Amino acid sequence: MKKYIPFVNVSDNGIHIERTSIECPYCHKIHIPEMYSAIRYKNGNECFILCECTDKDCGFAFTRVYNIRKEEFMDIIQAKLKSRGFNDEVEKLSPSFVQIYNEAYSAEQMKLSQITGVGYRKALEFLIKDYLISLHPDKEDCIKAKFLGNCIKENISDAKIKSVAQRAIWLGNDETHYVRKWEDKDVSHLKALIDLCLHWIEAEISTRKLLEDMPEGKNR
Ligand SMILES: [Zn+2]
Repeated sequence: MKKYIPFVNVSDNGIHIERTSIECPYCHKIHIPEMYSAIRYKNGNECFILCECTDKDCGFAFTRVYNIRKEEFMDIIQAKLKSRGFNDEVEKLSPSFVQIYNEAYSAEQMKLSQITGVGYRKALEFLIKDYLISLHPDKEDCIKAKFLGNCIKENISDAKIKSVAQRAIWLGNDETHYVRKWEDKDVSHLKALIDLCLHWIEAEISTRKLLEDMPEGKNR
């Protein structure tokens, strides 16, 4: 049996929709939902239907996209999560860092607190190792195989990057181990330390480029 659903955003009257079972995005049970109103999408072929789950333990409201021409509901579309952009130097230096960081950021937005920190810890490892490989391309295999802590101790000469990276690892390791050593620190502190590492690495790369661009010999 069809139900008449009025459009709320256009002057057309509304749409008749067959009352069919669909999956609730909250409880994931398949029920015929209550349908209240529709917003016609700008392409004219689809509309958003405001539904209410009829499961007695759920009852959440949600919208589902309905294809007007095909007369059917479309698959559940996930809202897009935010992603963080990094400057070109960092994108070039370590595309893996950018990808892993944003996967961790997605986990954070989904409140997946047990794996968010582990993701940021992994992102940090790729950032630092890719940075070190860019400084010492001849030692690539050795750097890849080494523990991150040893890379920082043995391969980073800049004192500031070294001390910040070391602390980022301490907190990062806390995210992967059973017992926390830094109980008063959390993912926000780890992210702040990653930002500091990024800051020093970006400054170091820019400085190195500028010095290559303006060698001392030219001033004679
Ligand atoms: Zn439900």
